This record gives sequence, structure tokens and C-alpha cells, in this order.
Amino acid sequence: INILAIETSCDETAASVVRNGREVLSNIISSQIEIHKIYGGVVPEIASRRHIEKINQVIEEALKEANVTLDDIDAIGVTYGPGLVGALLVGVATAKAISFAANKPLIGVHHIEGHVSANYIENKELEPPFLCLIVSGGHTHLVLVKDYGEYEVIGKTRDDAAGEAYDKVARAIGLGYPGGPKIDKLAKEGNSRAIVFPRAHIEGAPYDFSFSGLKSAVLNYLNSCEMKHEDINRADVAASFQEAVVDVLVSKTIQAAKDYNMKKVAIAGGVAANSALQKAMKEACIEHGFEYYHPSPVFCTDNAAMIGCAAYYEYIKGRLSGLDLNAVPNLRIGER
Ligand code: ATP
Ligand code: MG
Ligand code: FE
Repeated sequence: INILAIETSCDETAASVVRNGREVLSNIISSQIEIHKIYGGVVPEIASRRHIEKINQVIEEALKEANVTLDDIDAIGVTYGPGLVGALLVGVATAKAISFAANKPLIGVHHIEGHVSANYIENKELEPPFLCLIVSGGHTHLVLVKDYGEYEVIGKTRDDAAGEAYDKVARAIGLGYPGGPKIDKLAKEGNSRAIVFPRAHIEGAPYDFSFSGLKSAVLNYLNSCEMKHEDINRADVAASFQEAVVDVLVSKTIQAAKDYNMKKVAIAGGVAANSALQKAMKEACIEHGFEYYHPSPVFCTDNAAMIGCAAYYEYIKGRLSGLDLNAVPNLRIGER
């Protein structure tokens, strides 16, 4: 089964051909980072317009690189939410047009379920059930992956997402957009014990997260240094902030894996590309006897291969979409 997958939920225009859910024949990503970084973040109208300009070319490239034609494609998978509505609509409209014109089944895919499914691509032996920590630009969730396409959310952030916190702190220390990879790099030169930032634990909700207090603590620290005319060691700030984030993410994930008796732990989403998180989660999983899974960085951040993977498991369950498929900007996990 060959799936042509399309992803346009944010600022990546992406298309991929995935065979039988786990074999990526092509993975084309046209990133708009260069365009949006002058504004310090994604500008929705610009993103939509750019998707329209790029989408056909990206799809053609994906087919070409996979060495297939539309005739070899069995179904079209597309992200229909969550994300920016105008951006999602470009992918959804394109997928519907191809589905109708080429008479191929259409599969609407949940973007976050795509992020989770990215783990299947390089870990051929990974099968549910497992616990997945999802850490992306807009989400921080702990989910039980009970089966393919079956999720139970056991915890989530009360305020900012982990990626959002990275991006905001990066901006505050003048690193620019997107901040996650830049903090990751700068933190390697800093002392993670230099500044003690808070780790939020929420009374009665052991698997929920909160990052806005941490973000404020970093901003307060920067302000107080400025008032006292003290030099700011940005590498120490980056390293100390990152350690606070990673500490909380790892400890809550390990606790949840124990409490729910999970043997396997996976991470997903853009922040899963973070080298400190990767390292700490791996060490903690070894220490506590969990099998640990993670995607390569290219499959952590937005891509269409993960959408093709998720679409395949929907396809074999017969969960197809109609041509009335619409973009759903605030789609929740497990909802369809
Ligand atoms: P969502 O998936 O929640 O809809 P999104 O698609 O915008 O949001 P992703 O593409 O999954 O988000 O991830 C982007 C986020 O990941 C950004 O916040 C970015 O800063 C962060 N990120 C990327 N690489 C790293 C890294 N190495 N370390 C930390 N954060 C990172
Ligand atoms: Mg992006
Ligand atoms: Fe994403």
C-alpha cells in the first residue's frame, strides 16, 4: 500500500510517499523558516500563501523521488488539524482535489497522531501499547497509545507548550526564531546548574505540565540582571532553562510509565529533537527498565512521512474520509 501524504498545518509545506506505513520512499519538506524569522514567528496569512505557491511542486517532487506516479498511489493522507486554519486548508483542498480527480481514497490525519506515528518509521519493531510524551510547538501531552489510532490522554500542559517555552525564552535572550534548536546548541556551552529555575508540579495532577512560571522566572532573571547592570551569561541561562524543562518532562514521563505499567516509552514532536531531552530520557529509561523509542530529528519536526505512517493505520482500519473533509484548527487528540 502506497500512501501519498500531505502536511501543511504550520510553516512546513511537506509531501511524502510511504509504503506499508513504515517505509519512507520520499520525504520532501519546504520550510518557511527564512520567511517567518524576520517577524520572530509564524505569520498565518504569509504561511497560507506560501503553501499555495509550493504545494504542487512539493507533491511532484515527492512522487518523483519515490519513483512512482499517481497510478501507484493507493490513498491520499492529509493533515486536517490541529494547526493554522488557512494553512491546513491548502493541504486539505489539494488532497481532496487529487482524491477526486484520481479517484483515490482520502484519509484525514490528526497532526499530533502523526507526530506519535513518526516513531514507527525507524523502529520497525515498535507496536502499541506504549506511553508517548508529545512535546511540540503547540502541545505537551502524555498519552497512552493503546493501539494504532487509539489514544488516551493522561496529562497535558495547563498553559504554554514546551516548544512555545523554548521559543519565548530564545527570543528573550536574543536567539531568534525558531528558538528550540538554538537553545539546544547554546546550552552545550553553558552550566545547567548556574541558575535554579522552578520545576512546576501540579497538586493532584501528576501528569500535567506548566511552563509559564518557568518562562516568567527566566524573564524575571534577565530583568533583574539588567537592573543590577550584571552581565548575562546566555549559555548558562539556556542550559539552566533547558535542564528545568527536561527534568520535568523526564520525571513525569517515568512516573506515568510506572503507574500505568507501560514497558515502552516514546517521545514525539519538535522538542523530541532536543539533544538534552533525548539523552536524559534514554538514561532514565535504562535506569528504570523501559524500552525507549524516539524518531530522528527530521521526523520529530513537521514532515509528511509521519502523516503517511498514521494514514496507513487508518486506511487498514477502513477509517476513510469523505470529500466533505474540512480543516479543524483545534482538533483534540483521539477526536475525529
Ligand atoms: P504542533 O505540532 O503542536 O502543532 P508545530 O507543528 O508548530 O506545533 P513542531 O514542528 O512539532 O511544532 O515543533 C516545533 C517546535 O519544536 C518549535 O517550538 C521548536 O522550537 C521546537 N524544537 C525544534 N527543535 C528543537 C530542539 N532541538 N530543541 C528544543 N526544541 C526544538
Ligand atoms: Mg514548523
Ligand atoms: Fe507539529
